[in-house]
Amino acid sequence: MKQALLYKKADNDSVICELCNHQCTLKNNQWGICRVRQNKEGVLYTATYEHIIADHVDPIEKKPLFHFYPGSRSYSIATVGCNFQCRFCQNYNIAQMPRDQGRITGIPTTPDQIVKAALKDKCKTIAYTYTEPTVYFELALETSKIAHKFDIKNVFVSNGYMSNVAIETISPWLDAANIDLKSFDDNFYRKYCGGKLQPVLDNLIQLKKNNVFLEITTLIVTGLNDKDDEIKKTADFIVKELGPETPWHISRFHPTYRLKDRNPTSVETLQNARKIGIDAGLHYVFTGNVPGDKGESTFCHNCGNLLIDRYGFTIQKNMIKNNACPECQTPVNIVF
Ligand code: SF4
Repeated sequence: MKQALLYKKADNDSVICELCNHQCTLKNNQWGICRVRQNKEGVLYTATYEHIIADHVDPIEKKPLFHFYPGSRSYSIATVGCNFQCRFCQNYNIAQMPRDQGRITGIPTTPDQIVKAALKDKCKTIAYTYTEPTVYFELALETSKIAHKFDIKNVFVSNGYMSNVAIETISPWLDAANIDLKSFDDNFYRKYCGGKLQPVLDNLIQLKKNNVFLEITTLIVTGLNDKDDEIKKTADFIVKELGPETPWHISRFHPTYRLKDRNPTSVETLQNARKIGIDAGLHYVFTGNVPGDKGESTFCHNCGNLLIDRYGFTIQKNMIKNNACPECQTPVNIVF
């Protein structure tokens, strides 16, 4: 166990963890909501530091990040644990392992070793992903600092529930993030995720202000967050607060974990949501988990020209020239 960052001492050996918006107050020996941080006699410890549960080389498109070094490899890591308990979690076996199985495990791996492995595998980025990077913040921060020395970029795939001070601490080393905006309904966040909506909205604005390249993902769950007016509210928020050039991924839900009582999202629902996003003014709206759908590709928002042809996570053809549409020269919000 390593001493944690971002907490303060309180009365009677209690501590307040300031890493995420839960702001857990922990008595001696108590664990946080994430179940990977523990107070021991007035000192907060992280139990997952240097303990990796997953490491894979993925296409950056799998994060998903479609406009940040497209076609590159991303060294993707995770520890166990999460500060949310989404009933539809795709990675519940590792994200909820401490809560569901009472286990914290992983292979001992240092930040230096992670960066070396990323270099060896010719990865342009290190992605802190699969579970919630906020809860392994110390490992992500140290690794990010070393990665930058070797010109490797850092990417968070996150629920966006970190505290403001956590954002300010990681931002100098965080190059891009895909943040889930799971719903535009606070009740959904409380009932199905164990969090609140407003901190996520505030954090998206803060990350944008700090020049972190943003893409947004919304998993459309059948019968829960698939109504037109909610999708429109989400799109309007992105346009107004983050900019119409922000890529938005609308992903297909598959029954899993604690949400097996409903069907996968229909392709028509996803295509309808994509149309709502485009009509609201967004330039790049993608359908996710529907291989072969037109919505996987990037089109020029001005003339409609096909710019990046994708199938699943694979780029078939990239037609962008000088970060612009080759037909009408309209700039594309993309990092190569
Ligand atoms: S990271 Fe969040 S959930 Fe975990 S102990 Fe800190 S405040 Fe609580």
